[in-house]
Amino acid sequence: MTRPPRLSAGLLGQAAGRGRLLLCLDFDGTLSPIVETPHEARPLPGVRAVLRSLSAKAPRVSVAVVSGRSVAQLRRLLGPAAGLYLVGTHGVELVGPRGGRRRLADVGAARPELARLRAWLRSNVPPRAGFLVEDKGWSIALHYRKADPQAAAALCRSFKRFVARETPALRLSAGKMVVEAVARAANKGAALRALRRLVGADATAVYFGDDMTDEDAFGAVGPRGISVLVGERAPTRARFRVDGPGAVLQLLKKLNASLGRPASRSRGRNVRARAKQAVQAAAAVCGCGGRAKTSDRAG
Ligand SMILES: [Mg+2]
Repeated sequence: MTRPPRLSAGLLGQAAGRGRLLLCLDFDGTLSPIVETPHEARPLPGVRAVLRSLSAKAPRVSVAVVSGRSVAQLRRLLGPAAGLYLVGTHGVELVGPRGGRRRLADVGAARPELARLRAWLRSNVPPRAGFLVEDKGWSIALHYRKADPQAAAALCRSFKRFVARETPALRLSAGKMVVEAVARAANKGAALRALRRLVGADATAVYFGDDMTDEDAFGAVGPRGISVLVGERAPTRARFRVDGPGAVLQLLKKLNASLGRPASRSRGRNVRARAKQAVQAAAAVCGCGGRAKTSDRAG
C-alpha cells in the first residue's frame, strides 16, 4: 500500500486560489493532540483564533468541525463558534454558522437500542478498572486506555458481540483505545455530502482527519477534493497526509495568511446572496425526517 504524499501549504493555497473552499476538520487527533481521557482534550493553542479568522472569510471559505463528539462538547471546546459549522456525533447533528440546528441522519430507531446498551454497560463494566464510558446521546464509547490490556481485550470482545447481536440499528466503530456503538445512520461521509450541498457544489472540499471514522469522509470529498490523513495509517483513502495536529495548525495558519483580509463590505451583496442560497439548500438537505424546525437556518 502506497503511503500518501505529504500535503503542502502551496497545494492548499492553489485550491483556495481557484475558488471557494469547504474546509472540514475532525477534532480529536486533528485539532487536538490525543490525550489519556476524552475530557482532557483541548484544541492546540492558536486553533480557535485561526478557525475564527478563516470563518470570517466566508464565503471564500466555509469551515466545519466534524467530530464524534457531541455538538455541545464541541461548543465548549471551541468557544463561541460564530461562523463555524459544527457536525457532532459522527454526523448525526449539525449546527450552522448562525446557530440553526438540524439532524442530518434518521437515527430514531437507535434510541431503544442505545438504552439497552447503557443497561448492558452498567452491568458489565467493572468500576475503578480503568474503563470510561462516554455517553454522547446518539453514540456510546467505551474507552480502555487506562485499563489492563487483557481485561480490555475481553470486555471489548463482549461489547462488540452484544452490539453485533442485539442492536441492529447501531454499528461498531473502533478508534484509538476506544470502541464505540454509533447510530447506524450516522456517517461522516454523509455529513460531508450534506455540507457540500449546504455551501454549494462549486466549493472544493478539504477534509482533515486521523481516525477510521474519517475514511468515509475521505471518500466523499469528490474528484476535485483534498483528503488528508493526520498521522499514519495503512490502508487509507486519503490522498495526502500530514504528521499531526501541529502540522494541521501550521497549514491552517498559512492558508489563513494566503487568503488575506475578510470579505469586505463591498462584497456584502454577494455574501447575502450566498447566505440565501445556503438557507435554500439547507431546506433541501435530506435525512431530517421532518424533525428540523422550518425556522432552522443553515447559515
Ligand atoms: Mg479524530
